[in-house]
Amino acid sequence: MSVAAFDCKMCGHCCHGEGGIVMSEKDRVRLAEHLEQEVDSMLEQYAYQRGGKWQVVTGDDGYCVFFREGAGCSVHPGRPDICRAWPFFRGNLIDEGSWEMIQEYCPGVNPEAGHDEFVRQGKEYIRQEGLSRHDPDCDANALISEE
Ligand code: SF4
Ligand code: SF4
Repeated sequence: MSVAAFDCKMCGHCCHGEGGIVMSEKDRVRLAEHLEQEVDSMLEQYAYQRGGKWQVVTGDDGYCVFFREGAGCSVHPGRPDICRAWPFFRGNLIDEGSWEMIQEYCPGVNPEAGHDEFVRQGKEYIRQEGLSRHDPDCDANALISEE
């Protein structure tokens, strides 16, 4: 059996920082459903618009408002596609050097697995999650692999 190329350690590095967690319409509907709220009230409570795009609010601690220390993402099944796609972003799949660099940032990426296995598992994951680069409604699509 192959070794897991990625296993999230819930360190929160990828949930830290202002902005960047963009939400497409699909993301907004899914997150609101997960929170059992109307889309408008969810947006009012947890999102803001910048450059015409909806983004998840950052808390006073500098983390995404949904991040919980020790527990990770509190909306995991409803999280936006950009969070769903990490760390299997296109750049990390096509470039071994990027894969090596993200290991310092993301302790969930397993160096033992090797880049080829990371690519294989990543592509399978992207397909399973229905994360398509060609989905015009997916704000993360520029970061997603062709396959
Ligand atoms: S940086 Fe990696 S290990 Fe840390 S929370 Fe994000 S995905 Fe998980
Ligand atoms: S929605 Fe979840 S996975 Fe995405 S940044 Fe916020 S806490 Fe992290």
